[in-house]
Amino acid sequence: MKRLENKVAVITGSATGIGQATALVFAEQGATVVCADIDLEKTQATVKQIEQAGGKAEAVHVDVSQVDSVKQLAGHLQSTYGTVDVLFNNAGIDQQGGKVHEYPIELFDQIIAVDLRGTFLTSRFVIPLMLKNGGSIINTSSMSGRAADLNRSGYNAAKGGIANFTRAMAIDYARDGIRVNSLSPGTIETPLIDTLVGGKEDEQGKQFRDANAWITPLGRLGKPREMATVALFLASDDSSYVTGEDITADGGIMAYTWPG
Ligand code: NAD
Repeated sequence: MKRLENKVAVITGSATGIGQATALVFAEQGATVVCADIDLEKTQATVKQIEQAGGKAEAVHVDVSQVDSVKQLAGHLQSTYGTVDVLFNNAGIDQQGGKVHEYPIELFDQIIAVDLRGTFLTSRFVIPLMLKNGGSIINTSSMSGRAADLNRSGYNAAKGGIANFTRAMAIDYARDGIRVNSLSPGTIETPLIDTLVGGKEDEQGKQFRDANAWITPLGRLGKPREMATVALFLASDDSSYVTGEDITADGGIMAYTWPG
């Protein structure tokens, strides 16, 4: 028996990276996957990949930072499926902004709007579709929500906020049969780190990857599919007694005082 047979799963930020890998894994496990993203063209490519593998999916445009756009997504889910079983709030952006006294106010607002407020808005409008049957919500926090990075206070604030927002949601909906957990990735090889530090071919990007592999006890960056399988655990009944929890999947970074 596949783990998500007959389930409707909504994944935000599913055009690339962790969201895309999770869409593929959820579809392999029998879910009908609604791939929602601001980049519709790339999301359609994700859907095509799923369909070619024999899975069920559709691409829907959403900007998670915009109330009207999220309401439109929820309206579409209501009229097409009636209920939702799994919501993966994964859409996110990250950028360095400098120290707090130099940090651009617009950038801080933008990161909070997409990462934190986007998680709130999507939950706010999709949860009504989960109240009848219950389900599982997974929010993407980060190891950057548990500890801090240089020059990235906006992202640290957003991801730390998501971790505690997750606990608040878990308490609010426990008696409704909706479990809510967060997933905190370490450094994962996705387009997000290309935009943050440069691609594999750039000198800076290469240095970042080498340094990250060195400080990671498992000795390498994570792969998107390694996050998808953790999301699958949280989405499925395998985690039926887990709620209000943050699962860190970071190759051991948060566990050590010194890697050598
Ligand atoms: P990614 O850039 O590959 O994916 C992010 C996705 O979000 C993209 O498809 C993008 O189009 C979409 N998106 C951006 N803004 C949006 C908006 N306003 N509305 C809807 N969709 C939007 O990056 P990723 O690494 O796969 O990131 C996925 C999540 O994992 C993010 O929340 C990120 O913060 C988190 N994360 C990533 C890492 C890492 O090292 N890659 C580490 C920790 C946490």
